[in-house]
Amino acid sequence: MPVPDTLEAPTGLLSDALARPLHDLRISVTDRCNFRCVYCMPKEVFDKDYAYLPHSSLLSFEEITRVAALFVAHGVEKIRLTGGEPLLRKNIEGLIAQLRALRTPSGRPLDLTLTTNGSLLARKAQALKDAGLDRVTVSLDALDDAVFRRMNDVDFAVSDVLDGMAAAHAVGLGPIKVNMVVKGGMNDDQILPMARHFKDTPYILRFIEYMDVGASNGWNMDEVVPSGEVVRRISAEMPLVPVSANYAGETAARWRYQDGRGEIGLISSVTQAFCQDCSRIRLSTEGKLYTCLFATRGHDLRALMREGRSDAELSSAIAQLWRKRADRYSETRTINTAGLERGGAGGAAGQKRIEMSYIGG
Ligand code: SAM
Repeated sequence: MPVPDTLEAPTGLLSDALARPLHDLRISVTDRCNFRCVYCMPKEVFDKDYAYLPHSSLLSFEEITRVAALFVAHGVEKIRLTGGEPLLRKNIEGLIAQLRALRTPSGRPLDLTLTTNGSLLARKAQALKDAGLDRVTVSLDALDDAVFRRMNDVDFAVSDVLDGMAAAHAVGLGPIKVNMVVKGGMNDDQILPMARHFKDTPYILRFIEYMDVGASNGWNMDEVVPSGEVVRRISAEMPLVPVSANYAGETAARWRYQDGRGEIGLISSVTQAFCQDCSRIRLSTEGKLYTCLFATRGHDLRALMREGRSDAELSSAIAQLWRKRADRYSETRTINTAGLERGGAGGAAGQKRIEMSYIGG
């Protein structure tokens, strides 16, 4: 990752080549997971011989916090920890406590959140809250146990995830969002049961279109259930009305139930790309920066840190990277797949994209 000759102090305001600000940092803290979700870490690829990152490659908590502080000085206000399964990283609460202490240039604490499969949440919820985590997002792809077990492919029960969510809610890690990836033919029969179950509860259910991330899941447009279809199916039983976004750049389009009893979100990265508002950057477990979820190349910040570069050098390198950012992969994919019949494999088929389990959702 190049360091510019002239160093600059952060101003808290950075704009990329398409005038998008930098607000969100997603940090992957591990590339390991205890689930083998068929659309993310299929067993055939992520088997016992799979080469995970060695411990020495991982950024330490001190390195992560140093990077996070530089990003906060550049305008980042929200940090999400992800993975792999972030709760598998030893003493993750220690990292949360360090990040909690960071302040924005105007002196405000960050919005600090974490995405988890929920398997360890019942055990860890209190420690996460005590360390200063604000909220969690929990992934749950089905309410039917057989469907869920088929999807996570490690025989994990729905009731354990629900227990984890209840524990997180009880300690105040809310509002809790529930992410359901909809894969056509696999769990789309769960759209209505999930909607019924989470309506009128403190949990906000979000439906995610199955995306062409990585190269392991054999993605095909045929298996994407468009968000429009999700809304149509739910609305037929429980009428929905659209709600305006909470803020520019919000990934989920919001819909509320007409009877006033709750809302859902729709993350439509395939059928309604939201690149134009994307203010996210991603830090991989081994310290590479990715300016897009669908990027094929990362920028090695760890190398700069481990060769002893100063904060001013790192900060200037980050500023330069963001200013040049012009990624709009999902919009390009939409253009490329628009003319295709169902069955198309998308615009960037054949390119070696990074895996979701490596960079986090
Ligand atoms: N292990 C954690 C979890 O399960 O939430 C965090 C990492 S996981 C990669 C983050 C999110 O990405 C999950 O909600 C997962 O369902 C979603 N995801 C993974 N692969 C996906 C794909 N191909 N399309 C859409 N969402 C995907």
